[in-house]
Amino acid sequence: MESQPATAIVTCSQCGGELHPDAGQTFLTCPYCASTVFLDKSQLVFHWYVAPTLDESKARGALARWMAGNQTVKDLDRKARITEVAFSYFPMWLFKRRLPSGEDRLLLLPAAATSITELKRINLPPGDLRKSTPDIDQSAQPPTVPLEVALAWLSQNQVPTQEVIEKSLVHVPIYTCKYIFNDRTYTAVVEGASGEVFANLYPAKAEAPYLLIGGITALIYLCLATFPAMGALQGGATGLGVGLLVCSGVGFVLAPILFAIAAWIAAKI
Ligand SMILES: [Zn+2]
Repeated sequence: MESQPATAIVTCSQCGGELHPDAGQTFLTCPYCASTVFLDKSQLVFHWYVAPTLDESKARGALARWMAGNQTVKDLDRKARITEVAFSYFPMWLFKRRLPSGEDRLLLLPAAATSITELKRINLPPGDLRKSTPDIDQSAQPPTVPLEVALAWLSQNQVPTQEVIEKSLVHVPIYTCKYIFNDRTYTAVVEGASGEVFANLYPAKAEAPYLLIGGITALIYLCLATFPAMGALQGGATGLGVGLLVCSGVGFVLAPILFAIAAWIAAKI
């Protein structure tokens, strides 16, 4: 048994220089080539960050536009009360996948626990990646999802490990926004470079009233369609004529009413 663990020596993935991290040190800058790297267990990966382009007021603006948009319940931007907007650098594993066709794809997976799993849909233009800095290393949220776990998740999701040709850690600027609507607290994330909004749960437009009015409409017209058939069965050609007349007459009267109800629902929700 050794009383002291041997100092781990890792080699820089860029220049091959020997790095001597202190115990527990995970963020490193190579003294030879100035690459910024992250040490995950025994693997060394590049460490990037995306520079924010939105300040807090612009992030609030992006959130308000999303709330006023079509996905969320009507007038959410006016009815919701924003209780918190917090900036942070969120860690993500970035993988470059080379498809058998030779085409490259970028894949992102959250590298820390988050309720906003939608974050994996973040779009990262490769040109936006910058070398991490000591300031970012200090203020960024450290990854808690090991690289191996992320790779295992990929292989379970039809991404063969041998197709992953690059692995790196990226800190993405995010504004985590909390708001209250109808006595419930929701979270939405505004990406700090693009202003795109991500949310798993939000007060969505209710679909039930639309389905209900659609169902009622279908039922009414189905009933009406049986009138001519019933008329024909009971009174031959005259019966058919009367049935058709009733059917088209009632249908003609009901159509604008049903349309008005549907329009009223659309305006209300
Ligand atoms: Zn180096």
